[in-house]
Amino acid sequence: MADAPVRRIAVDLSGQVALVTGASRGIGKAIALALGRSGATVACVARNLEKLQAAAAEIAAAGGKASVHACDVADSAAAQVTMDAVMTEHKRLDVMVNNAGITKDTLLPIMSDADWDQVIATNLRSVFLFSRAAAKVMMRQRSGRIINISSVSGLMGNPGQSNYSASKAGVIGFTQTVAKELAKRKVTVNAICPGFIATEMAEALGATILEEVKKMIPAGRIGEADEIADAVLFLASDSAAYITGQVLTVDGGMTA
Ligand code: NAP
Repeated sequence: MADAPVRRIAVDLSGQVALVTGASRGIGKAIALALGRSGATVACVARNLEKLQAAAAEIAAAGGKASVHACDVADSAAAQVTMDAVMTEHKRLDVMVNNAGITKDTLLPIMSDADWDQVIATNLRSVFLFSRAAAKVMMRQRSGRIINISSVSGLMGNPGQSNYSASKAGVIGFTQTVAKELAKRKVTVNAICPGFIATEMAEALGATILEEVKKMIPAGRIGEADEIADAVLFLASDSAAYITGQVLTVDGGMTA
């Protein structure tokens, strides 16, 4: 018998503005589409303008609203220019999703300075830059949601990923601290740790390794980007107002 169609979480974010980094493909694009379907106006941020425009067109085709902002999220000046542009165009910011990320996997003895620096800058410094800019807006509004996409690699070691694991564990520590700083202003800050999710990042591992990976996942399958987007929708919703500083792991039971 065929599987029943998935009935996804329904959240009303109409009137809200969301900013998603890494919205040009993969998990970030799925998050941007889900937020758009839920009624939020979505500011889509990444480096590839053409792919951002394609994502924005999909949001518009589904009846939503989106703007596009080409930006290297690790660049402090560019991050502030992007936040300023979003505020000029949309006037508020309700949901900040720090999703952009890269891997540069290699074993420690042969890891270059550049492999380390680029991963830390893209995955961790960007979260600091966009959260700081978002916090200033949200503290004034006395409301907001910051949702940081970490990884199961931030919870446990993974050979070849010392740079990536360090960046993602850093995101968790950052999330917990900023959550305590912003709680009184009704701004929640949470992290999501995806396990293996079907995107270009996971495909880069190759079919053989992915088959081995599946054996480590109690659910017996790789996750879908939409399953991360659903977790984001929940944390962005009014129902999650009392949840802050938490880590929601979405990994088919791998780290249980
Ligand atoms: P992906 O398919 O490779 O997409 C990465 C996104 O980040 C793209 O939109 C990319 O856009 C953007 N990006 C990368 N560097 C950037 C930069 N310097 N400035 C702006 N944007 C940048 O990866 P994904 O699988 O969707 O991963 C999304 C997030 O989930 C990442 O933080 C990743 O670490 C995390 N995650 C993924 C998995 C997984 O199995 N897929 C598991 C755990 C955690 P441009 O190239 O256009 O800039």
